[in-house]
Amino acid sequence: MKILAIGRNYVAHIQELQNEQPTEPVVFLKPDTALIQNNEPFYHPDFSHDIHHEIEIVLRVGKEGKHISPEFAARYYDQIGLGIDFTARDIQQRAKEKGLPWETAKAFNGSAPVSKFLPVAEFTDLKNLDFHLEVNGEVRQRGNSGLMIYDFDFIVSYLSRFFTLKAGDLIFTGTPAGVAAVKIGDTLVGFLAGKEMFRFEVK
Ligand code: MG
Repeated sequence: MKILAIGRNYVAHIQELQNEQPTEPVVFLKPDTALIQNNEPFYHPDFSHDIHHEIEIVLRVGKEGKHISPEFAARYYDQIGLGIDFTARDIQQRAKEKGLPWETAKAFNGSAPVSKFLPVAEFTDLKNLDFHLEVNGEVRQRGNSGLMIYDFDFIVSYLSRFFTLKAGDLIFTGTPAGVAAVKIGDTLVGFLAGKEMFRFEVK
């Protein structure tokens, strides 16, 4: 399986990092070694002093497809969950300044913890999904899928022009404002549509 991710999909987050708003989705990938499941802990790596949490809605691809048009895109994801797109902001900043790729900042071991996944049918309105992240019991990030620049169907269609999507692939759809560093001992809890979806510790 592969993990695809969209960057800069919420205006308030673009502004907090003083990035330009893209005219097309910003896309990057993470390998399967980035995945953490079942509330396993995240081990803080020693190569960065500024690992940021980015809470994101994650789509799970249900069947293989490429060149999917937006009107049929909803047939290609069948489950929804949450994930953290952990980002070594210090490394990413240096890469951005030099116009270099982001892999060591975005795709390192354990950089993609994900929650359990729920069937799409359990949600009444995919364009109005509230989600938030609590760190040590305090709300750090709040988002709603209605605030995305590129919606789920557009993202699936866009990605499928470049990458064949396969059942089990995961798509991170971008983070809202409020990103900040995590530290050893933090407990991260993610909520989607009022349901607790994951709870894990930084070790
Ligand atoms: Mg992100």
